[in-house]
Amino acid sequence: MTFDLSKIRIAGSVKYRAIFFSGGVIHAFFLVFFIFIGQQLMTGFNVISVTLYILGSLLSVPKGTDKIKYGWIVAFYIEIMLHAVTCTVLMGWNVGFHLYAIAVLPIAAYLLFLTTPIKRFIITMAIMIVANAVIMPAVMIYSDGHGSIEHVPADSERMIAFVNTGFTGIIILVFTFLFVLEISSMFDKLNDVNRQLEFIATHDALTGLYNRHSLKPLFEQLERGNTPYCIVMGDIDDFKKVNDTYGHDCGDIVLKSVSDIISDNIGEQDTACRWGGEEILIVMHGERDSCFDVISAIREKINALEIVAEDKSVGVSMTFGFVYCKESTAGIEALISVADSRLYQGKAGGKNVIIA
Ligand code: GH3
Ligand code: MG
Ligand code: MG
Repeated sequence: MTFDLSKIRIAGSVKYRAIFFSGGVIHAFFLVFFIFIGQQLMTGFNVISVTLYILGSLLSVPKGTDKIKYGWIVAFYIEIMLHAVTCTVLMGWNVGFHLYAIAVLPIAAYLLFLTTPIKRFIITMAIMIVANAVIMPAVMIYSDGHGSIEHVPADSERMIAFVNTGFTGIIILVFTFLFVLEISSMFDKLNDVNRQLEFIATHDALTGLYNRHSLKPLFEQLERGNTPYCIVMGDIDDFKKVNDTYGHDCGDIVLKSVSDIISDNIGEQDTACRWGGEEILIVMHGERDSCFDVISAIREKINALEIVAEDKSVGVSMTFGFVYCKESTAGIEALISVADSRLYQGKAGGKNVIIA
């Protein structure tokens, strides 16, 4: 069994909310740490931060608009930068809070990716990157590596540096992974749409058969190859009369039913195509006799078809012109002409027959 990452789909608002909520949890953790080491300024800061994240996860989603979410993402970025700067100024580089100025970038990129138009995404990311590049070295020069408070106990300093380095690594890994998931799920959706579009482009909407234009590659393949095949041109008999008597909708049902009988009875490798209005071209692989038997069975099934309209049974039959590939060496077009002229021979001779 393989595990397909691209099948994991989570609603955008859930991801968004989960990220804000996680931000709140991380800050709650810092809050405890700052209370523990008696850092009142950072304790106050983190009370505000936790509140901000909880509000962000609660308020930004129900209000919904992308502009509101964008505002919350910018607030999120500013909060992390302020937090990183303040912690670094107060406690120095050793505790590693400056690392969050790096970790904020993939988080902001991911949140903007989920919610923001591409132009605003690029401008915002550029501003954030430049801001980081200016602010963090400025803090480094200002604080010269030392904090302005001296009383972070050495044990705590080591422990929190360890935690901050771990968190930063995890954040970068998680958001790289989330990006990969997003992109692979986008590819998946794109492939689905492409498959649907390809089907629409190559098939007839009413009958589900191939359309005329889609047969070109098959014809080229048949002309290049040397396996035996037959070409059959079928046309529903007196179809105009069905339309005129029972209406166009009934005509559609007849056409669809006839097409279904043909698709269900030809081989897996064979192709049925809606060639014109109620003309169906069938390309069958195999020798002449076996193909002919299949078409005979199809003709009989169509003839036995019972469609009821206006409480009356609508009689249906189809005439076929049949040609075997070796009857002409002038290519597919010539074979189709032969099938076509045999079809009209059949029509002239009383219909509901196969002329081979
Ligand atoms: P014949 O036995 O000689 O083939 O007679 P016919 O009435 O079937 O032949 P003709 O070519 O004169 O009529 C074909 C009719 O098929 C005319 C057209 O309105 C109808 N037709 C073509 N496409 C469709 C379709 O998608 N749905 C319906 N209901 N009718 C269609
Ligand atoms: Mg007809
Ligand atoms: Mg016709």
